[in-house]
Amino acid sequence: AWLAASGPRKVVLAAPRSFCAGIERAVDVVENVLEQREGPVYVRKQIVHNTHVVSDLESRGAIFVDDLDDVPDHATVIFSAHGVSPAVRAEAAERGMEVIDATCPLVTKVHAEARRFAGRGDTVVLIGHAGHEEVEGTLGEAPERTVLVESVDDVLALDVPDPLRVSYLTQTTLAVDETADIIAALRARFPALRAPGSDDICYASTNRQEALRDIASAADLVLVVGSANSSNSLRLVELARRQGTPAYLVEDARDIRPDWLINNRIVGITAGASAPPRLVDEIVEALRGLGPTEVTEHETSRETLQFTLPAGARNAGRCPD
Ligand code: SF4
Repeated sequence: AWLAASGPRKVVLAAPRSFCAGIERAVDVVENVLEQREGPVYVRKQIVHNTHVVSDLESRGAIFVDDLDDVPDHATVIFSAHGVSPAVRAEAAERGMEVIDATCPLVTKVHAEARRFAGRGDTVVLIGHAGHEEVEGTLGEAPERTVLVESVDDVLALDVPDPLRVSYLTQTTLAVDETADIIAALRARFPALRAPGSDDICYASTNRQEALRDIASAADLVLVVGSANSSNSLRLVELARRQGTPAYLVEDARDIRPDWLINNRIVGITAGASAPPRLVDEIVEALRGLGPTEVTEHETSRETLQFTLPAGARNAGRCPD
């Protein structure tokens, strides 16, 4: 029914969307630590890549810093969901900081693979985006053995010491289809290429992409809720555009430009894994405010995964298991 192109505006919500298990956990970590600690609580980098989440936690007392240089010795510091390099851990330990690590367990898995692959003498090809915090953390596991590629062209330009000893890893939030092209190029150049045990692109990125792919081509317009530095949100915008549908990244309802809606009757909405669900609700309300609107949800999978909170951040009233 949502394919109808006249009558009320149709809003189709992709499901799953918004918070994943790793982001929920990271936000819970900061909230619990703020509740439990008397002194200042520092957070290295944005805990998750969403400006609303960060400003909310800031208003509750969290102090966000870009670098450990801005954290006093012996202070409490939380590492963000994107993970950190061993050098950052070492510095925190050396300076007597109390570290609470909100790194998503699925990022930790990629770090463990990086150490394992480098340890067996491979050149580790990390597929990801330069400058992203997760990539910086993973590169830091074996910097002398890891090379970053962002594209098929980068693969063609690779120069490795032993073409028979090459393995690859990926950033967790990439587009599945684009990464497949890069992996195919790697295999063509290095037939002995070794892969991670299971896909590094995480379940949340994969599920949000699948859900959006299902609705994007039938929509006139796609809105992706997320911040500009959210990798998985950007991948969702690109995916919708590859399906031929105009798509925009919006922080919140205030970013919606009325001219986007002219003649666009079917609006697909999704949200990156770091975007709070309430922002989607607010956008739907804003669209309702513009005229008759029919809202449906198109669910392609259901997520039940939950991660245990790390030591130092467990809520006293909650069973840690
Ligand atoms: Fe973890 Fe994936 Fe969520 Fe990143 S997007 S925090 S890797 S579950």
